[in-house]
Amino acid sequence: MEQELRKEARKLLDEGKADHIVGFARGSLKFTATPLITREKEEVASLVINPFIVNNLAKFLTEVPGRVGIVAKGCDSRSVVSLIQDNQVSRDDVVIIGVPCSGLIDIAKVEQLVNKDRDEIDDIALQGEKVAVIIGGQKTELPTKEVLFEHCLGCESPTPQEYDILVGIPTNAIGDKELSLRRIKQLEDMVPEQRWAFWKKQLSRCIRCYACRQVCPACFCERCFVEESQPQWISPVSQWQDNLMFQVIRNIHVAGRCTDCGECERVCPQNIPLRSLSKKMSELVDEMFHYQAGIDKDAPALMTAYEPVEAEDLIM
Ligand code: SF4
Ligand code: SF4
Ligand code: SF4
Repeated sequence: MEQELRKEARKLLDEGKADHIVGFARGSLKFTATPLITREKEEVASLVINPFIVNNLAKFLTEVPGRVGIVAKGCDSRSVVSLIQDNQVSRDDVVIIGVPCSGLIDIAKVEQLVNKDRDEIDDIALQGEKVAVIIGGQKTELPTKEVLFEHCLGCESPTPQEYDILVGIPTNAIGDKELSLRRIKQLEDMVPEQRWAFWKKQLSRCIRCYACRQVCPACFCERCFVEESQPQWISPVSQWQDNLMFQVIRNIHVAGRCTDCGECERVCPQNIPLRSLSKKMSELVDEMFHYQAGIDKDAPALMTAYEPVEAEDLIM
């Protein structure tokens, strides 16, 4: 797949069909990948595809000039579609190089299960329902479900639905919806006072670094409400009530745009379970408006369309 990807990316640059390629290169740490944005033909030889390509590259589409050839997993391609629906990106300015995805491995889970630091691990290979971990020449097999990110376990479209070029063959992620929604279910089972106490405790730890916002392709406002001073919607000081307000407003802003890529939760340095908010919001959007983010580039964005019947449900 990597060879095919490099060939297609090179062809796009050679034929002038893309000004930049946005993909992944090997990261500086073991079992990581890093975004690669290049217009250099030689550099496309560094493109990689592996179970560690965690970033949602759609984030770069509003920043990279010209026509962009973007490597997109299923959730990334839905974010691209969502940006097209919001008129942030023109379909003509993007060449989607779809990459069928088998799920992403959370290296922290592997480290915990094998009780080793990543530097002590020689190799990790995703092999269907098992993940082979090689340490000192010895192979250990782990159940894939136990090492994938939770959002991948709930993924319904790991193969991009919108693409110009598809590299490799369509895949199915090793899903487990129940496991994917386990933490949300636990929160739903709480009484409101418990839930309030839970989020108060979690959001008291927020240091307002805004990494969750910076990494999210659905957060594309040129000026974020948190930076407004007139009116000042929330205090810049990190106190739990304002942190809560930040997340509540952010989640309303990404409603109908969030594709459950899991990036906000992954990058949070305080390990705040942000997906429990964003995924719950997506479920509510689906329930109330029968709308899933990034499915149809020709459909109006959720917040730009109104059906008279909706008011009845919302007001009553
Ligand atoms: S959510 Fe789906 S497409 Fe996205 S990384 Fe996980 S399995 Fe792949
Ligand atoms: S990434 Fe985490 S710590 Fe940083 S602002 Fe977001 S919730 Fe707070
Ligand atoms: S809110 Fe989080 S999960 Fe949703 S699109 Fe943004 S980064 Fe991805």
